[in-house]
Amino acid sequence: MTDIKHYDVIIIGAGSVGAPAAFSLAEAGVRTLVIDGRPSVGQGSNKAAIGGIRATHSDPAKIRLCLRSIEILSTWKERYGDDIEWYKGGYLFVAYTEREEKILQDLLKIQKPYGLNIDWLDRDDLLKVAPDLNPKGLIGGTFSPDDGNASPLLVAHTFYSHARRLGAEFRYNETVTGIVVESGRVRAIKTDKGQYGADVVINAAGAWAAPIAKLVGLDVPVKPDSHEAAITEAVARFLDPMVVDIRPVTGSANYYFYQHYTGQIVFCITPSPSIWGQDCRETSSFLPMVARRMVDVMPRLANIRVRRTWRGLYPMTPDGFPIVGWAKAAEGFLLAVGMCGQGLMLGPGLGELLTRMVKKSVTKEDEESLTFLSPYRQFAGQEKLK
Ligand SMILES: Cc1cc2nc3c(=O)[nH]c(=O)nc-3n(C[C@H](O)[C@H](O)[C@H](O)COP(=O)(O)OP(=O)(O)OC[C@H]3O[C@@H](n4cnc5c(N)ncnc54)[C@H](O)[C@@H]3O)c2cc1C
Repeated sequence: MTDIKHYDVIIIGAGSVGAPAAFSLAEAGVRTLVIDGRPSVGQGSNKAAIGGIRATHSDPAKIRLCLRSIEILSTWKERYGDDIEWYKGGYLFVAYTEREEKILQDLLKIQKPYGLNIDWLDRDDLLKVAPDLNPKGLIGGTFSPDDGNASPLLVAHTFYSHARRLGAEFRYNETVTGIVVESGRVRAIKTDKGQYGADVVINAAGAWAAPIAKLVGLDVPVKPDSHEAAITEAVARFLDPMVVDIRPVTGSANYYFYQHYTGQIVFCITPSPSIWGQDCRETSSFLPMVARRMVDVMPRLANIRVRRTWRGLYPMTPDGFPIVGWAKAAEGFLLAVGMCGQGLMLGPGLGELLTRMVKKSVTKEDEESLTFLSPYRQFAGQEKLK
């Protein structure tokens, strides 16, 4: 392997995870190459995300990673000057039945001890936060004012440009086809255009992570799961938080929406049953169902017009938690896959964790987080807020 260019780390995938990881590694002085089969940064699932960023999860690993992501993203403009359209509107989970009230109250018992700024608000206080919520049948809900949203493409692009400034290299339109393993450790990767050596190879290939892991003989349970989203015309601001309704109905397990700061309502559903596979052709068949649900929760939305729909892929795992850790099958092969519906919000915090793993400087807290995210866990539990 002496005749090929050698890096400390090669990242496969310049997406929600790969781009911030490249930035963090480059910042730490690690010689990094990122390879992506698409023509520019963030063109996989990253650009399908609707931009929601919250730390209000149900396990310590995701809570920690996303708290750090929020710190990074909310201060990005001041530190680097780039506008990533960060908007701190908070997240609001509504409860219209006792089922959601119980789920959300139970979650608070886990969330509060982790220092999350989240509280139960009864009906009247919730209506102060989102006055256009339908008051009929509303019991209350949780509100976390420090959560927010940002542009997935601007986020990916700013990490990419600052990673490059710090010396990271990016190769686009180049597909990884093989990983060279010798004496039990990764040595190089092969693409359709060449070969590059590395001490560490990070699999950040999102919904396409399983075939990449297979290149070192590893089965990772990440399956592409198609999700639908849409955006409306712009209207004057009337809504601050992301509103999440976790009542399952035929067609959708839940849905969520927020008003972008340029005025559009952006919304998304979790299809039920799931739409497994890689079909990203957009449809409008989910619109009547989600429109009914949204108008029911916020009658004021009745006359707003939808401008565009799209479909993208969640890289899903059986339990809804990401998979992060070193592979036993090949030394130096690091998995950062299975971000499910949360890769944008996990990415910046995860990029720093991956850097500490590469630099062998993980903290006690990191070690605890990594047990939750281990590729070798049982996958028996279920994330409560997928
Ligand atoms: C409709 C929708 C709404 C969403 N909303 C949100 C949200 O509000 N907040 C949030 O946090 N998340 C959201 N998500 C989820 C989020 O988009 C994903 O979790 C995230 O983008 C996954 O990041 P990733 O880096 O793992 O994958 P990606 O961003 O897809 O990056 C993987 C990259 O790997 C590249 N790649 C794959 N195979 C190869 C190969 N062989 N060679 C070279 N390159 C390769 C791909 O081209 C791709 O660019 C949403 C997703 C959808 C579909």
